[in-house]
Amino acid sequence: MTKEEMWQTILAQIQFQISKASFATWFKGTQIVSINNNKIIIGVPNSFSKEWLENKYQNLILKILHTIDENIKSIEFIILSKKGGTKNKKENEIIKTNNFAQNQLEFKEFKINPTTNLNPNYKFDNFIVGSFNELAYAACWAVSENPGNVYNPLFIYGGVGLGKTHLLQATGNKIYSLWPDKKNKYYPAEELTTLIVESIKKNEISTLKKKLKEIDVLIVDDTQFLAGKEKTQEEFFHIFNYLYQNQKQIILSSDRPPKAIPALEERLRSRFEGGMICDIGLPDFETRMAILKMKCEQNNILLDQSILEYIALNIQNNIRELEGALNRLIIYSKVNNTNITLETAKKILEQFTNKSPKATNFKAIIQSVASFYNIKEEDLLKNTRIKEIVKPRQIIMYLLRTELNESFPSIGRKFKGKDHTTVMHAFRKIEKELKENENLFQEINLIKQRIYTSSV
Ligand code: ADP
Ligand code: MG
Repeated sequence: MTKEEMWQTILAQIQFQISKASFATWFKGTQIVSINNNKIIIGVPNSFSKEWLENKYQNLILKILHTIDENIKSIEFIILSKKGGTKNKKENEIIKTNNFAQNQLEFKEFKINPTTNLNPNYKFDNFIVGSFNELAYAACWAVSENPGNVYNPLFIYGGVGLGKTHLLQATGNKIYSLWPDKKNKYYPAEELTTLIVESIKKNEISTLKKKLKEIDVLIVDDTQFLAGKEKTQEEFFHIFNYLYQNQKQIILSSDRPPKAIPALEERLRSRFEGGMICDIGLPDFETRMAILKMKCEQNNILLDQSILEYIALNIQNNIRELEGALNRLIIYSKVNNTNITLETAKKILEQFTNKSPKATNFKAIIQSVASFYNIKEEDLLKNTRIKEIVKPRQIIMYLLRTELNESFPSIGRKFKGKDHTTVMHAFRKIEKELKENENLFQEINLIKQRIYTSSV
């Protein structure tokens, strides 16, 4: 039996054991690369599938493999590269169909720089400037050319999903590329708070402060989180002053101006206000179109102008949502291997644009999550701490809240009378993780697609 035949046999059996949609999502574009020394190497199209297959389907594949060849002891998954070693025409086909999925996922393959905490993918190059953000852009640019000497501190504020993190990180990245020796550090304010609180607990605050005082460029994102955290504010104030007096650059962001952050100590507020403050407004239609076009280009995908216009017209207040809508189309097109028409796009994006109560219900949500994770519906409602069930259950709670606007107590009642604080905790956890974990973001996108388009 050749490798291809063997894989086909295995796939045929897997197909019986998991849902059709899971099969199409996770096994498309896979192949056996080699069998050697009791080890089988399986090629997969991208890191997303790799992680998924490793975590979810490794045992199943191994079990089936054993019925064919009991000598095989282990599986390794590798990502099939676009170029390397794929002369065979069929393999090229497989890779081609997965190319844009791969591109789409490249973003998360960038490693956060461990010294700076910066994500190198946020650049000035891929930041679109319009009248709503040009002041903030110009200020960040000026600071990146001359850190510590132009605007200090630089304070950028604006609503969610409008590019604050992108701009802050682009500034940090540019400084890093110009002065790799400068100590340049990015912190979400929440993370900095945890760091400070933990070191107070462990009696290590002076060590931490000493370290922070060595920084040349300190970037703190979402400073509204400092609200009410008195102890953190106090420590931060001292670090801030020290850096400021030594002409070190400080860059801050918040979802509102300093004077609108409640419970921000007066002296800290006036420090924040002492430098340059810029706001980011709402993007105009042209900018929204430009952002969509750039993303399509980056992803190597061609969408009709009418589809882009439809998205840009319907999502006006949040660039993250704008990208999310586009991503959803890209994923749909990947999973179904089809081109998107305006009609399909409208259907897929209904829940983004439809402000009226959404067309789904508890049943549809639980069914979609169950089939996506390949778990029985009744198991999802059980009171268990098994890891494989806890997370999908939290996702259901999250979706009940976001898609159906259900109250926390009402969601709790659906899960054997769970306390509303448990539900709230689950909701917050998923909400937070979604911002940090591209995989989870994609999982939830795929689940939503199932909820709203029964054809998937
Ligand atoms: P915020 O921090 O304000 O909530 P982000 O910086 O996280 O927003 O931006 C949300 C998403 O939108 C990110 O993926 C970011 O890359 C993208 N984005 C925001 N503004 C722009 C822009 N002007 N050009 C291109 N992409 C943008
Ligand atoms: Mg942000």
